[in-house]
Amino acid sequence: MRIFVAGGAGYVGSHTVKALVAAGHEVTVFDSLVAGHRDAVDPAAAFIRGDLADGRALADVLKQGRFDGVIHFAAFLNVGESVEKPLMYYRNNVTNTLNLLEAMEAADVRRIVFSSTCAVYGEPDRLPITEDLPKAPINPYGATKLAVEGMLRDSAGAWGLAAVALRYFNAAGAAADGSIGEDHSPELHLIPLVLQVALGQRENIKIFGTDYPTPDGTCIRDYIHVDDLASAHVRAIEGAKPGELEAFNVGTGRGNSVREIIEACRSVTGHAIPAIEQARRPGDPPSLYADASKIKARFGWSARYVDVRETIESAWRWHSAHPAGYAN
Ligand code: UDP
Repeated sequence: MRIFVAGGAGYVGSHTVKALVAAGHEVTVFDSLVAGHRDAVDPAAAFIRGDLADGRALADVLKQGRFDGVIHFAAFLNVGESVEKPLMYYRNNVTNTLNLLEAMEAADVRRIVFSSTCAVYGEPDRLPITEDLPKAPINPYGATKLAVEGMLRDSAGAWGLAAVALRYFNAAGAAADGSIGEDHSPELHLIPLVLQVALGQRENIKIFGTDYPTPDGTCIRDYIHVDDLASAHVRAIEGAKPGELEAFNVGTGRGNSVREIIEACRSVTGHAIPAIEQARRPGDPPSLYADASKIKARFGWSARYVDVRETIESAWRWHSAHPAGYAN
């Protein structure tokens, strides 16, 4: 297939591009490089620097490319920032996706896989999370992703779009061959922050809340390896059904607490990694982990990395070889 990947220079995007190329697809990456990295893009993929905000340029690229499908990663993803600047998030994540869908309809590209998030569930009242639970995001970031799911559902009904929304849990790890990995600026995610302490780039890791109703008092999350996320996208773009939006959780089905993650990082790196207990971070649900049986039944996909230690090992290989990320 000829596949257009919006945001293909980002963390999950670049790992997916690599997996698409390995599966024999012809890939064009479209990325503004505001957050992505040119060096993260597989050399076998074509690269266009562009912004989804520029609907006209986008329409031209899609018309000329004769693409079979689109995978859409381009979005802002910082929950705290989305609370402070909601309209910036709606413009970038929702309005720009509207441009993309309009350009797709005009160019007759009728297949899309969209990066959604477990943040669409807000604070679920049941665990593990199944796709049918109420969608009640508690921050603008999650609300923008849910809004896009609505545009996809309505487009599927109206013009036969084949759409899949993948609701990721916590993306983590790096490519098994060490070639690409995570590099956010600023970095706000737990595993890379803990590994930065091991690298001596930070003095300690702050544990946000130790009084949650969980066995060790810290938050539980489902850390899904980025290569597993990548393979889920490949299956989804190949198998999307016309006229429907299908939404799937993509997680391991296992939860790990913040303390467990820090301990696993100590064991993997051999560094002491001082931790400081702090108050809760506003907006963090106590526990989130996936029931991923729906995507297994539909696409035969399940996570290959089920032990978070192996995910951390892959991340550590990347961060220790590239302590300044792509600047190395
Ligand atoms: N967390 C933490 N210290 C940090 C960063 C994160 O204790 O410096 C916790 C955070 O409260 C959450 C978990 O680690 O419970 C995962 O946070 P992250 O920001 O990586 O992902 P999120 O689950 O918020 O998408």
